[in-house]
Amino acid sequence: MEPAQGAPPGSGGGEALLGELEALVRDVERASSWWERRGVDCAILGLSLLALPAGFLCLRSENVLVLGLGITILGVSHYTLTVKGSHLATHGALTESKGWSKIWELFFVEVCLAFSAEYAKYGHVKIHHGYTNVLGLGDSSTWRLPCLNRFVYMFLSPLLIPIITPLVAVERLRKVELRLAVRTLGLISLGLYAHYWLLLNVSGFRSPGSALLCMFITRSLLAHPYLHVNIFQHIGLPMFSRDKKPRRIHMMSLGVLNLPRLPVLDWAFGHSLISCHVEHHLFPWLSDNMCLKVKPVVSQFLHEKKLRYNEDSYLARFRLFLSHYEELMVQTPPITELVGLQ
Ligand SMILES: [Zn+2]
Repeated sequence: MEPAQGAPPGSGGGEALLGELEALVRDVERASSWWERRGVDCAILGLSLLALPAGFLCLRSENVLVLGLGITILGVSHYTLTVKGSHLATHGALTESKGWSKIWELFFVEVCLAFSAEYAKYGHVKIHHGYTNVLGLGDSSTWRLPCLNRFVYMFLSPLLIPIITPLVAVERLRKVELRLAVRTLGLISLGLYAHYWLLLNVSGFRSPGSALLCMFITRSLLAHPYLHVNIFQHIGLPMFSRDKKPRRIHMMSLGVLNLPRLPVLDWAFGHSLISCHVEHHLFPWLSDNMCLKVKPVVSQFLHEKKLRYNEDSYLARFRLFLSHYEELMVQTPPITELVGLQ
């Protein structure tokens, strides 16, 4: 066990503190327009969909620069739809309508990402958000591959993400009802086949091999930052035990880290996964744009209450993970002792 840094001992009242902060955040929400609450993020996702025809058409060209532009458009749009879109849709942050929420969830997670919407909700919302950094539950251990060495993990393993994602989804289907399994399998196949069909019929690829290679390149374009961001945000921060987990506000203040703003990643992954991950874990119903809007309120509140607000740069985390790979990614992390915060 190791003591927590930056969490004053005996500072109970976590519920009251969170209530106080939530009231401030709700005030910001009430003062915001629809455009700020949902519109900005819906527009980014809409633009990503609208950019797809241009991306597929660019791939018809013989010119290397135009080809590169096509790959970039398709790759960035793919990540915007599958990471930002799936994440916001899984949290129900795109619309107030329950019906539309479900439709967006199926579209982004199953058709675009090729994963199971049920499992994404269970694994991400229920376990990862509900038990952030609790060992054996939301401890990010799914991202640990102790059999790989640090360079293979950080530089090569991200390339496997587009291949592993549908395979993991299919494996999970064994545990769901037949009706849901058929739907998920149908929507995943539809998404993958539509991508392949468009490359053959719109982009003019002549062989299945070249179309599949192009699918692989666009689907792994931002796989490196995707994997890195997922480990940087939680691993290496205090970890808690199941029976002594801290109050929600302490759990998120200690166990979540914000990276600085990074334009491509802000666009493709969303603020809630980059510079506002603390805000996102505290208020997961907020859209990316609203997380950014409440960030000054949240950071000021946590600083005033002398609670930890973790921030670090991408490069600093990258260096830390390379130099302390064994300790962070191979060994079981130590449980942080928290006095009076449970
Ligand atoms: Zn989330």
